[in-house]
Amino acid sequence: MDAEKILASLSTATDETEFYAPMPAGYRPGKTKYVIVFGTVMSGLGKGIFSSTLAKCLKDKGLTVAPIKLEGYLNVDSGTLNPYRHGEVFVLDDGMETDMDLGTYERMLDQNLSRLNFATSGQIFTRVLEKERKGSYLGRDVQMIPHVTGEVKIKLRELAVATDADVVFVEVGGTVGDVENTYYIEAVRELAFEEGPDSCCFVALTYIINPAMLGEQKSKAAQLGIRGLLAAGIQPHIIACRGREPVTRKVREKLAIYSNVPVERMFSMHDCESIYLIPDMIRGAGLDEAVLKILNIETRVHPEADLGARKTWSEFVGRIRSARKHVRIGVMGKYTSVRDSYASIIHALEHAGTATDAHVEIEWVDTTDLTDERAEQELGGLHGIIVPGGFGVRGAEGKIAAIRYAREHQVPYLGLCYGFQMAVIEYARHVCGLADANSTEIDPDTPHPVVDILPEQKQIEGLGGNMRLGGRDVLIKPGTLAAKLFNNAPEVRLRFRHRYEVDPKYINILEKGGLVFSGKAPDYPIMQILELPPSVHPYFVGTQAHPEFQSRPLRPQPMFLGLVKAALERAERLAGKPAGAAVESSPAPTLA
Ligand code: GLN
Repeated sequence: MDAEKILASLSTATDETEFYAPMPAGYRPGKTKYVIVFGTVMSGLGKGIFSSTLAKCLKDKGLTVAPIKLEGYLNVDSGTLNPYRHGEVFVLDDGMETDMDLGTYERMLDQNLSRLNFATSGQIFTRVLEKERKGSYLGRDVQMIPHVTGEVKIKLRELAVATDADVVFVEVGGTVGDVENTYYIEAVRELAFEEGPDSCCFVALTYIINPAMLGEQKSKAAQLGIRGLLAAGIQPHIIACRGREPVTRKVREKLAIYSNVPVERMFSMHDCESIYLIPDMIRGAGLDEAVLKILNIETRVHPEADLGARKTWSEFVGRIRSARKHVRIGVMGKYTSVRDSYASIIHALEHAGTATDAHVEIEWVDTTDLTDERAEQELGGLHGIIVPGGFGVRGAEGKIAAIRYAREHQVPYLGLCYGFQMAVIEYARHVCGLADANSTEIDPDTPHPVVDILPEQKQIEGLGGNMRLGGRDVLIKPGTLAAKLFNNAPEVRLRFRHRYEVDPKYINILEKGGLVFSGKAPDYPIMQILELPPSVHPYFVGTQAHPEFQSRPLRPQPMFLGLVKAALERAERLAGKPAGAAVESSPAPTLA
């Protein structure tokens, strides 16, 4: 029986059959292939970076790719996760709050994703329970197999239908052996059986240990990890070995014996200087070609597209290498001990730096104890300042002190969401004479609630007291710095995640005081971008949005680009050099 017939026979739930694999309407068996990536041995191998880069290599060849991350946790989305423990909450254009890995996929693929690209056990179980309540299971007892696994397969096939992808890239969260991910592994095993030969390529990412006391690579942990996958009924087609050094032939041969994977399909994905070098590592090793062969889709490749994409990418990597200039940007954050909490900001600065021939050094400043008096000492050496998104009271006064310092000392400033709100507060207090102005998030009894929750607007938006989430259009005021940054586009789309906003009652006072609101919501008086005129400050910009989520390696986000350019000018002025000259004392650029 061919795949189509098998699928047709599986696709209805009846009393007569044990099969349960409902198909989303429009599903075309055989059109979409699946690459499924598992992690073995341990977490933290960079599974998301690996999968997204492999997907990029196929996209570069002219194929349509759609990634999906399957998360084991029971949260329905990542909105309530603490960034300190789990990394930043990444927001998609459709408002879905996801794991930070979705940011990695968007950046690497230069592709906007949606809630179809992200699944959690919370979502899967919610859908199963909703169906159960509606009686959709026709009186059957609802079980992990086939109903919960069936729901996972529906999610994967829905993505295939919605994107008409050549290849869906499935990243199974966690590590083989974790209880919460077991049913995902079972679901993709079933998927491969139902879809038939050449439909799925299983890739096991593993780790080759190299204990210092031995000074030799050992394969036992990897063997055991892969054995776990085999025990679950998955025969990997490809094994990608992470490790510090290139994996030796001896180790690859040994792993081949234990895993039934030929040594040519055993790839060394050892540490390299930068994530941007991984595409070349994958291509150089022939891993992308192996996937095409396994899936039998070599004929779908467009060789010219591939050549063009590779050239553009190698120019980008070349620019990182040749960056000569150097700037120091201070990020005023609460979670400064965990870089993952600010992953998108770090990348956005990296992209802007590469575009301006600069290495951007980030200095993390915990603002808990920052005051006006200490500002010079803490911030004096910076070429630019960012106040990122945040929630709650801690460190807020320190952030306001940092913004005051930036404004009064002509230090380029970029405020992101909370950093936009803090800039409004700072301006209200110190320029407009509204003493003790504040956000009601910080001081509910402030005499001047310049930043507040506005229930009437939330009602208009239909969100109740919830966050305003996802992409929104922003009207740009002509003739402003924002207009210049966005190339005179009358309207741009930015991504939001906030509950509080500027109270329209105060807009007049703030504008009279000299603050310019250069970006607004089209239909409501929601302030989205602020700035100071160039006659007053070289670069003072804030946005209620999170532009860091939209920066891409080859398309740096304009507000970050503006900040880095202004910071470079400051660095050059401080060094007493003419604009454009390289700063000689700068440390060698790195591919971080
Ligand atoms: N806490 C602020 C709000 O809810 C800012 C949110 C943020 O920075 N993401 O509006």
